[in-house]
Amino acid sequence: MKHAALPHPDPETLASLAEPELACVLGERVEEAYSLCREVHPELPRPRVWLDLRGRSAGQAHFGRGGLRFNPVLYAENRVEFLVEVVPHEMAHWLVHHLKDGPRARPHGREWQTVMRRLFGLEPRTTHRFDTGRSSPAPYRYGCGCREHRFTPRRHALARGGRVYRCRHCAQTLVYLSGDSPKIVI
Ligand SMILES: [Zn+2]
Ligand SMILES: [Zn+2]
Repeated sequence: MKHAALPHPDPETLASLAEPELACVLGERVEEAYSLCREVHPELPRPRVWLDLRGRSAGQAHFGRGGLRFNPVLYAENRVEFLVEVVPHEMAHWLVHHLKDGPRARPHGREWQTVMRRLFGLEPRTTHRFDTGRSSPAPYRYGCGCREHRFTPRRHALARGGRVYRCRHCAQTLVYLSGDSPKIVI
């Protein structure tokens, strides 16, 4: 049976941490995951780490900026799962990208899945189940003649109840397009 390669974080300790300490713990986890990756790829550059991702994504490997971006709201709200799964997920992207054929590999393709399974001992999932209500407060998409508008759940409910909203720029009535897709890639 599979066994997670990184130690399981202690939920109680994590729950008691304030923001600056949380950022430290994230940095340490990235470092642990990085060390593991160095065992298979000793030349792997160390990624920089940012807690600056907004919206519904939990994390992102940003090769142009040379590091990993994480969502501070989703991290604070889902500490254990975030460290257990999101950090290795992004580090696996980082590793695969720096392998010989990495830049040509599909984002969640065979190489990435193999790293998740064999190196991190994790199921290679590509979506998270975090509640994105606070990280993405206006998930409902509306359209007019000129642009896309975003509605909060409250505003969306009013519009569904018959209230008419118009675009300030083109004066057309806003029409409901869709909510965000329920699947959110990590
Ligand atoms: Zn408009
Ligand atoms: Zn991914």
